[in-house]
Amino acid sequence: MTPYRAALSVIKGLEEAGFQAYLVGGCVRDQLLGRQPGDYDVCTDARPDQVQSLFPRTKATGIRHGTVTVIAGGHPVEVTTFRIEGAYRDGRRPDRVRFVGRVEEDLARRDFTINAMARDLRGRLIDPFGGKRDLEKGVIRTVGAAADRFGEDALRMVRAVRFAAQLAFSLHPDVEAAIRRMAPDLTRLSVERVTRELELIWKTPHPSRAVAALFRLGMMDHLPPFFRWGVTAPPGDPPLTALDAVPSPAMRWALLLCLCRVPPEKAAGRLRELRLPKRQVGIIARLYGTAASWPARLTEAEGKRRMFRDGAPFCREAMELAQQMGVIDAATCHRQSEQLSRWAEEMPIWRLEELAVDGRELIRASGRPPGPWVGRVLQQLADAVILGRMANDHHQLIEEGVRIGRDATTDPGADDGKGR
Ligand code: ATP
Ligand code: MG
Repeated sequence: MTPYRAALSVIKGLEEAGFQAYLVGGCVRDQLLGRQPGDYDVCTDARPDQVQSLFPRTKATGIRHGTVTVIAGGHPVEVTTFRIEGAYRDGRRPDRVRFVGRVEEDLARRDFTINAMARDLRGRLIDPFGGKRDLEKGVIRTVGAAADRFGEDALRMVRAVRFAAQLAFSLHPDVEAAIRRMAPDLTRLSVERVTRELELIWKTPHPSRAVAALFRLGMMDHLPPFFRWGVTAPPGDPPLTALDAVPSPAMRWALLLCLCRVPPEKAAGRLRELRLPKRQVGIIARLYGTAASWPARLTEAEGKRRMFRDGAPFCREAMELAQQMGVIDAATCHRQSEQLSRWAEEMPIWRLEELAVDGRELIRASGRPPGPWVGRVLQQLADAVILGRMANDHHQLIEEGVRIGRDATTDPGADDGKGR
């Protein structure tokens, strides 16, 4: 069963029990656009407890807000009771919801006309706010007065910009005007909600559309955490379209740092401010730092050493990023790309574990106690192997390893790990 069929079967079950039920929100929008919906949400006048007792497999996902997940045909389908939202404290989250009886009331609380449509089993469209017309025109327009809706929840301003990028739509003039006026309200948003929207923006085909609007409409001056970074001038170099040219979210985060003029040594701190997971912070900061100092001339030895240390995919990403950041030019990037391909084919090993000798063997053969010298000697051997100065041959490597290890400790300046 497809996720779509699963959602229809849930609607059928609800209708047969005498309730109203509809597909709603993003899936209706995407189907009208001929796009594949990410998921299928259902709304109904059945109360959460009624939904729970109607289906054998359910999860109380967000029961306080009226959402129950029904597992149908192996797929999770979110079923939410028609509701309106109470007051928004601090423009962040509704304090409480109230269940209502008519689908139109539920649609009225939704953010944009294109997201405020419902469809029943027979294909009848419920579209009280002209969502279909706005889809045809390609505009993002709020349900009701834009300033009021942004006053209730400031995140909607960021969502507007996100949908514009996601669907390649433009913002209705009223939406633009309201954002310019209401942008100071953005300050109260939690960083987590902002970052989540940015991650969705990175998954769209034209993230530059969203980022251009963030700058153009003055949102960057108020959006956490950016307003604390003091980025105001709309950047022209690198051009915002560089965001569309790079393929991965990590590269897009790095470019955003570049557009915000973050120096590489501050990158990790800034990414932590964005509350990105630790692992991501490490990867993006390293990518950004590597790209920022990417060399215009790459020798064979350096290229191979970089690939051995960082992996070929990372090197390519850093190099492409360097080009988009204006660190190297397109011709250089093209040339280096060919060089990296050629050198990659010659690489006899990619990781230390592939070296035909390991630490234990080296210690045994040398008859010396373990210490930091082992790692250093293995690194030197690997270096000789990747540069083609030695074969990846067990006997030769042991012999050479024992020799360098001995030299390193007879050298009076060397550290054999015993004293510092
Ligand atoms: P996507 O396909 O990108 O997930 P979506 O339309 O499904 O888009 P969601 O964020 O998943 O977007 O939200 C589901 C629906 O809930 C929206 O279509 C919209 O009707 C409503 N909605 C979500 N967030 C808000 C909000 N902050 N204010 C008002 N309505 C909202
Ligand atoms: Mg969705």
